[in-house]
Amino acid sequence: MTTANTRQRLVIGNWKMNGSLAANEVLLKGIRDGSAAIENCTVAVCPSFPYLAQVSQALSGSSVSWGSQDISPEASGAFTGEVSGSMLNDFNCAWALVGHSERRALHGETSGQVAKKAQAALLHEITPVVCVGETLQDREQGNTLAVIQSQLAPVLALGAQMVNKMVIAYEPVWAIGTGLTATPEQAQEVHAYIRAQLTAMGAENVQVLYGGSVKAANAASLFAMPDIDGALVGGAALVAEEFLNIATALYFWSFTFMPSYLYPLLTVVQVIAAFGVIVLVLLQQGKGADMGSSFGGGSAGSLFGATGAANFFSRATKWVAVVFFITTAGLAYLGNMASGSSQQAPSGGLMEGYQAPNPALPVAPPASAVPGAPEGGVSVPAAPVAPAASSVPAAPATAPAAAETAPEVVAPAPEAAPATENAAEATDSEKVAE
Ligand code: PEP
Repeated sequence: MTTANTRQRLVIGNWKMNGSLAANEVLLKGIRDGSAAIENCTVAVCPSFPYLAQVSQALSGSSVSWGSQDISPEASGAFTGEVSGSMLNDFNCAWALVGHSERRALHGETSGQVAKKAQAALLHEITPVVCVGETLQDREQGNTLAVIQSQLAPVLALGAQMVNKMVIAYEPVWAIGTGLTATPEQAQEVHAYIRAQLTAMGAENVQVLYGGSVKAANAASLFAMPDIDGALVGGAALVAEEFLNIATALYFWSFTFMPSYLYPLLTVVQVIAAFGVIVLVLLQQGKGADMGSSFGGGSAGSLFGATGAANFFSRATKWVAVVFFITTAGLAYLGNMASGSSQQAPSGGLMEGYQAPNPALPVAPPASAVPGAPEGGVSVPAAPVAPAASSVPAAPATAPAAAETAPEVVAPAPEAAPATENAAEATDSEKVAE
């Protein structure tokens, strides 16, 4: 039940379009004060652009870093409303969210554009947090992994050198702001798939965060999954205590004294103790002892009695019973920690009829999908088995034609040209349909 990896834990708050100078002041003070006690976890917040100055001032010198909710793929110029990487550098932004589902859905961002934004962030030494996630319709039609693969493809095509400097956030669209959380198992299934793709290209240590109605109550069970390295938090990030409790839950599950065998071990000890109590009580029966005196008391009313009448059997019974109660309490606690996720998440595994890519045999995506990909930099596992034609979702109606003519990144590329031109022209659902 502990995380099986050694990747640094990361919890990022996405404030979305919330906040004001006054409200931020209170929130930032709470986060700053509380964060001093958090270890083994990187904590960051992403306010709206106008508040970056306030946030950078309030958090300067603390362990909490900050980032933006978007970044322009352009360096500068006539791009009204856009904010460039160099502008973010002026505020010491460490992170930039790219491809959040709200931007994909409401602003028609394609995966190709997302890759360009990730590249632009890296050009300015800002870590892009690349968000991917399926809609409820995608999941119900069995297209989850195909959609994730399609969203990731242009990003992974940037090559291992760049991908190794990114963070990926898996955020099922149906879980964002809805109160529905993927069960830890559902999230892990997708995270494992993403990890396989990263591993295949030599980027297995990239942090993969989960996002979607994460709260203090469900964080620990999500973080207990081996491929979940932290969380991208929306609503719960607007309350300092709740946000910090999420980071603390993460920290708690990082303790080495919470090994994965603890739960089965406690279960075995509890069962042995239960049988032990029964046997010890039975051994004392027929000797004039009732239930109470089995525990050393003079009557049933003096369980664990302190009458001084204890003999070997009654003392043994007492201690075995104590072990039973302690293991029961431990199991109840661990069970409670692991059951924080929503019961209402869509049911069903993803793997039905799905053939997982073999990480040992990475297959480069078709050249047509990634024109201009850096030489030797592309190593993407084979796409999932294509869904039945009848189950292919329609292309999102929100993708504007403008997305198809996204200009190239203007800033000089240190590693490679963007590998995403064609990819930028297709929505994820269209690519899945292909
Ligand atoms: C998000 O916006 O990235 C998010 C995960 O939101 P919420 O936690 O509110 O679902």
